[in-house]
Amino acid sequence: MRAAGCYPCDQQARTDLPPREDVVHTEHWRVAHAFDSSLPGWLVLLPTRHVRSFTDLAPAAADELGGLVRRLSVALESVTGCVKTYLMQFSEAEGFSHLHLHLVPRMADQPESARGPRVFAYLGADEQQRVAEAERDAIALRLRAALP
Ligand SMILES: [Zn+2]
Repeated sequence: MRAAGCYPCDQQARTDLPPREDVVHTEHWRVAHAFDSSLPGWLVLLPTRHVRSFTDLAPAAADELGGLVRRLSVALESVTGCVKTYLMQFSEAEGFSHLHLHLVPRMADQPESARGPRVFAYLGADEQQRVAEAERDAIALRLRAALP
């Protein structure tokens, strides 16, 4: 079910997750606010089991995904004022092979240099530029309340 030394699996095993690590969860998915993003509302959707590709997902987990993406997108538009959301999945970063999907708000004033795939300019931000823990928690709670 879980893999040793896998960050998402370690987080999944905790029973005291703060809102930023547990925006919403179901049997199959847990949603976190990205910890190293400078863009408020950058979400990461994680299967609750350790899987490395879409083909490893349980059919029920796969079936649930579309509805979850839509509901979170509605909440993101409401909370961040974004005009739409981006959805991406690579799971290529060292130590992050656990399947994860990035669901990212696309703001109206987002510069051309951070649109489309270039939105990753907001990830891997320096410590000082990251959305602070307290703000991530606050966003998580507002998203939870705004979920349809
Ligand atoms: Zn894992």
